[in-house]
This record gives sequence, structure tokens and C-alpha cells, in this order.
Amino acid sequence: MKTPLIVLITGANKGIGLETARQLGQKDMFIFLGSRDFNRGRAAADKLMAQKIECEAVELDVTNPKTIRAAAGIISKRFGRLDILVNNAAIVLDDQKKKPSDQTLEMWRKTFETNFFGLIGVTQSFLPLLLKSKAGRIVNLSSGLASATIHTDPKGGLPKNIAAYSVSKTAVNAWTILLAAELKDTPIKVNAGDPGWVKTDLGGPDAPLEVEDGAKTSVYLATLDKDGPSGGFFKTNQPIPW
Ligand code: NAP
Repeated sequence: MKTPLIVLITGANKGIGLETARQLGQKDMFIFLGSRDFNRGRAAADKLMAQKIECEAVELDVTNPKTIRAAAGIISKRFGRLDILVNNAAIVLDDQKKKPSDQTLEMWRKTFETNFFGLIGVTQSFLPLLLKSKAGRIVNLSSGLASATIHTDPKGGLPKNIAAYSVSKTAVNAWTILLAAELKDTPIKVNAGDPGWVKTDLGGPDAPLEVEDGAKTSVYLATLDKDGPSGGFFKTNQPIPW
């Protein structure tokens, strides 16, 4: 019997992460649903299992190294490898009524702790397991708001009042480039993805995209074949400007 691909998605108890789990699970992969609240993760896993998706909740707070190490221990013991890591968890804390320079330093630090340092910590802990895969894939959820090119285009139209979140995602993009370069002689591919503006708790009710479409970029980057790109920034299956 063929063993399924093993996937870990952070922040998978709701939103784009949960939908990515559903879509990858439909491709006969085994999904670990990372959730900072184990009960929320288990409720999400129950929903997916009712749809015949093979999955399991695992406690994983990207700001808590203990839970990251414990999750890596669980996956290592069960499967001895990880095929796909989707770094999906993120937060927005910006006070959008304030200018970027008026946002508190504490808020900037908290945002980076989850969106940037959390993502690096998770990646470092799971890299040994990804290196045991025949074709490891790392998907870093970024945002259109990360694009320095579009921010500096006078016609770009990007909001400038979600600064800490936007800059944390620009940092994720830069990290993606450097990690892809480091891993270029391994089978691992590392890419950043913009899901688009999606109706979730983070995206809000006015977003034009439903989660089914919002998960497409992550699914595309998670399932790249050996000739696929590494070190790029994509929306659905198209490269977008850094
Ligand atoms: P969401 O519905 O708010 O879900 C975010 C997920 O991240 C939740 O499961 C949340 O857990 C989890 N999370 C937050 N902090 C965490 C931590 N410290 N450790 C572990 N998990 C944590 O957001 P979403 O819209 O699905 O966003 C998913 C990804 O897409 C994010 O990286 C976001 O930046 C990106 N994105 C979204 C949009 C959009 O329009 N929605 C646009 C561009 C990029 P709790 O349930 O416990 O809070």
C-alpha cells in the first residue's frame, strides 16, 4: 500500500488553514492540523474526519517552542518524516486608525513574534523531518500587502495602515528567498504565497474571495512537482512581484 504524504498546517483550526487541510486531505494526504488551542483543533479534525479526510489535531502555538518541539516529536514518532509544511498561522494587531509611525512598538513585536519568528521557529524544528522526505515542500503564507513593488507603485492601491502585519509578511518573503537558496541542492522547495483577500476572521466579511478559492495558492505550492519553482512569490499559480 502506498503511504500517504504527511502534511502539517499551522493555524489549521479555521479559515484558509482549515480549508487547505480539507483540499489536501481530498488528495489522500494525512493532515496534522496544528492549533494553538487543542480543543479547537480537535473540533476541526472531527469536521474533516466526517468528510472522510485522514487527519489529526496537534497542539502547536507558533510562539511556544515547547509545543513546536512536542509536535515535531509526535510526527517523527508516527511517520519519521514530513512531506509538506504549510506555515499558515498569522495575526493582524495593527490599529488601522493610526499611522504606521504611531503604532506601538509592543504591537510590532507581538506581530513579528507570531508572523515571522514563529514561522522561522516552526521551520527550523521541522526541517530535519522535511529533509527525510523524497520531495519536501514548504509553503509560507504571505500577503499581497507584503509587496514592496506594489507598495511603491503610486497606482498600486495597497492600504498603508496595516503596517506591522504588512512588514512582517515582507520579512517572510525575504526569509523564503534565503531559505530556498540554502536548500537549492535538496529536494525541498520553499515558496511564499498570497491567498488573495479572503472572507475569514482575519480578512473580514467584505473580502471578495471565499475560503475555497483562498486555499488554492497554498494547495498549488504544496503540490508542486519536481520541476516546479522554488524561492518564488505566487498568487494561485502565477508569480507576483516581491
Ligand atoms: P484566520 O481565519 O484568522 O486564521 C488564522 C489561524 O492562525 C487561526 O487558526 C489562529 O488560531 C491561528 N493562529 C494565530 N496565532 C497563532 C499562534 N500563535 N500559533 C498557532 N496558530 C495561531 O486567518 P486566515 O485569513 O485564514 O489567514 C491564514 C493565512 O493567510 C495567514 O497567514 C494570513 O496572513 C494569510 N492571508 C490571509 C488573507 C485574507 O484575506 N484572509 C490575505 C492575505 C494573507 P486561533 O483560532 O486560535 O486564533
